[in-house]
Amino acid sequence: MPSRFLAIGECMVEMAPTGDGTYAMGFAGDTLNTAWYARRCLPADWSVSYYTAVGNDQVSAQMLDFLQRSGIDTGAVRLMDERTVGLYLIQLKDGERSFAYWRSQSAARCLAADKGALDAALDGAGLVYFSGITLAILSAEDRVSFMNALRKARGGGSKIAFDPNLRPRLWEDLDTMRASVTEAAGLCDFVMPSFEDELAHFGDADPKASAERYLAAGAEMVVVKNGPEEVICASRGGTQKAFQPQPVTSIVDTTAAGDSFNAAFLAEYLTSGNLEAGVDAGARLAAKVIQHRGALVDCFETA
Ligand code: ADP
Repeated sequence: MPSRFLAIGECMVEMAPTGDGTYAMGFAGDTLNTAWYARRCLPADWSVSYYTAVGNDQVSAQMLDFLQRSGIDTGAVRLMDERTVGLYLIQLKDGERSFAYWRSQSAARCLAADKGALDAALDGAGLVYFSGITLAILSAEDRVSFMNALRKARGGGSKIAFDPNLRPRLWEDLDTMRASVTEAAGLCDFVMPSFEDELAHFGDADPKASAERYLAAGAEMVVVKNGPEEVICASRGGTQKAFQPQPVTSIVDTTAAGDSFNAAFLAEYLTSGNLEAGVDAGARLAAKVIQHRGALVDCFETA
């Protein structure tokens, strides 16, 4: 049966240094990265779409054009006259990357303000994917609407997947971040955290503790990534498994390791139902992605 993978969040303009003092413009964002990889991993009978809000201006049109050229449907995206898309600049100092953001007024912050548009985007999705960043950029009121819309979609048969992607600076305070992320996890079929974040902001003793905490919150399945260490998968039924990713020695840039893992895991698990194959696909794609620079790595010819 044809199905649809829907990612929801913020896609931003990326300005990356070229080395000669100029910057190259691109588009990126955690949920967009996952949608981009999902399009490449899923079979052709799945469509991939992205839901966000953008401006009604030239740069927003370029972003939508980029998504469409990547095979991602943008038909439901909300257009707003009074806002535009957010932007970040990659800065290099002594070889270290840092990021400067202009996103506080981005259109994406209003993606859940129009409940009708959000419901229309969710309608009939086979898998809905979002992250802690999707939640963080919303107003408190819109977070409630967003989670209600997800509950409704799940009631209608959609599976829901969530990467907590904890970014304290995007949230009004840490307690709100922890409470919202925990509530969101409770309405999910797949919660896909990275242990480094969970250790830092929930103080979990180990990845199993993160998995157990999200299961206790109501998640059906938790997949905890941990860089080169074992991936822990735990299900509501009580099964818990650990999978060791293949070692990678030549790491160039770990941007989007988690985002690409999530896409390949979900694409495999949604189509085969095989957990081990899902983790293997996730780890193998992430291993390729971290051996190249940038978030969106076209490494599929050699797949
Ligand atoms: P995030 O980018 O969200 O922080 P992680 O660092 O936990 O995500 O990595 C996600 C996945 O990428 C891991 O589960 C693993 O499969 C792969 N990965 C990341 N770093 C390494 C590494 N150093 N060696 C091998 N695989 C890695």
